[in-house]
Amino acid sequence: MALENDNDLREQIRKAALLNGVSHDGKAQAGALVGKILGERQDLRSRVKDLSTVINSVVNEVNSLSLGEQKAIVEEKWPETQKKEKTEEKKLPPLPNANKYAQIVARFSPNPDCVLHLGSARAILLSHEYARIYKGKFILRFEDTDPKIKKPSLEFYESIRDDLKWLGCKVDEEYIQSDRLPIYYEYTERLIGDGNAYVCECPTEEFRKKIIAKQACPCRSLPAAENLERWHRMLNGGYTEGQAVVRVKTDLENPNPAVRDWPALRIIDTKKYPHPRVGSKYIVWPLYNLAAGLDDHLMGMTHIIRGKEHYTNMVRQKYMYQYLGWDYPEAIHYGRLKITGAFLSKSKIVQGIKEGIYTGFDDPRLGTFLALRKRGITPEAIKKMIVDVGIKSNDVTLSWENLFSYNRKILDATSHRYFFVPTPVELKVLEVPKIYHAKLPMHPEKPEQGFREYTMLPQGNEKAVTFWISKKDAEAMETDDIIRLMELFNIKIESKIDNSETATFVSESYDDIRKIKAPLIQWIPKCEEVPCQIVMPDATVIEGFAESACKKLKPDDIIQFERFGFTRIDEVNQKIVGYYSHK
Ligand SMILES: [Zn+2]
Repeated sequence: MALENDNDLREQIRKAALLNGVSHDGKAQAGALVGKILGERQDLRSRVKDLSTVINSVVNEVNSLSLGEQKAIVEEKWPETQKKEKTEEKKLPPLPNANKYAQIVARFSPNPDCVLHLGSARAILLSHEYARIYKGKFILRFEDTDPKIKKPSLEFYESIRDDLKWLGCKVDEEYIQSDRLPIYYEYTERLIGDGNAYVCECPTEEFRKKIIAKQACPCRSLPAAENLERWHRMLNGGYTEGQAVVRVKTDLENPNPAVRDWPALRIIDTKKYPHPRVGSKYIVWPLYNLAAGLDDHLMGMTHIIRGKEHYTNMVRQKYMYQYLGWDYPEAIHYGRLKITGAFLSKSKIVQGIKEGIYTGFDDPRLGTFLALRKRGITPEAIKKMIVDVGIKSNDVTLSWENLFSYNRKILDATSHRYFFVPTPVELKVLEVPKIYHAKLPMHPEKPEQGFREYTMLPQGNEKAVTFWISKKDAEAMETDDIIRLMELFNIKIESKIDNSETATFVSESYDDIRKIKAPLIQWIPKCEEVPCQIVMPDATVIEGFAESACKKLKPDDIIQFERFGFTRIDEVNQKIVGYYSHK
């Protein structure tokens, strides 16, 4: 039969071409299919030329479909092939009104006045994840317009970019607000010129009293021309700090006094408080709602995903949007995410570092991404936790243990196992009957990942082999106890003197001691040890020995020290330095 008339074959090729097309942006690759089909149909090996002709014709057919059409067919006919992607993306509920927009645009907008910490994880990961799910755009916007109180610092722009990279959040566009002051000025001029904003010269306290009483201050009703004059005086240095503020008009009856005629720009003496990027170039600086509100529109934001503490800001900004004839983006306000025991206040972190309480932004006691990274918390675990919590508006409290359990699942499957002996003491085992070659698996379920190997040669008439074991294990032992050295053999404790123990060999098989539930302990043969120091979550340090196979580890490897815990390797030199993750 001519191959082009073989309908079963055509269908087989069509499936392969559609799957290939879906994973190649809608463009199936004929070349890749020849090998695949030949693998399934060895009988066609002598007819490669004919086969290629059929494949080319099917691929042309498939490639004439759009990626969306290809996906629809695949999902209908072979849903099992798309399962993985689907379950992952189903996790978050759909965005409101997503189909109203040609492209979804979301943002993360930190003030670079500190490194990022777990408290930002939700804003970052949800915005990025939605942009990714909808094949939209994820924008990073530095909101650095307060050179006085929440003063930005150059080092943090870079560390924030690094943190996002570490979290796996690819930034499609980046903006820095301190580059955009002329834009904010332009719109302010328009708002004032249209009579929708004004320059208020009232002392703060007087204004406050009036606004609480729902009364206008005298500046509010001045003609626009006069307010424009004041505005130019502001820009030209005619006022000093605190003498003038631009306010956006709102309904004075708004039930929330904090919304009424909100402040939009103020003067900062940048001779005294220079901005780290633009120095003393500007003295009029926008406040949060003006800069963020304008930018969200100007940058084409379709969805703003942020904490519900921002709800009032939306109410404020909507007045400005109305004046400018703009539609407010879809806003999603999620509840507070509290991590019990995580230390998250930016000002306390900065203060603590200044005072030397913390060693730096990566001090293991902190909840910064730098610290989590140093401790071997994976970005995948953080992401999984955040996506599981979702975008509910109720408050959620999680504990470190919640995060650890996500992390443990990830690490358990991949981490290599090693022995670490904290505070080592000597254990001499007598009457070892033969030379032992210990073959310890790198991973208990994955023998293909290899082994660590140690040879133990019994010495002298006593046939003695000496090990290091942890002081804690040694202290728990009594004379005559039966103990198993993990993956090696069983011993009986004979005597305990000071910092050394003597035992005798009993037997090899684990089955012999399973019934009596003998303790299993980790060990290191004497002369196979390397000094090792583990920094614990409370910043205390545990000294001990790691087995010599650890010399092959590299910084950033995350391993499991058996019966101790997961540990990220920080340094491998004469001494190994690790940071403890969790059990
Ligand atoms: Zn006033």
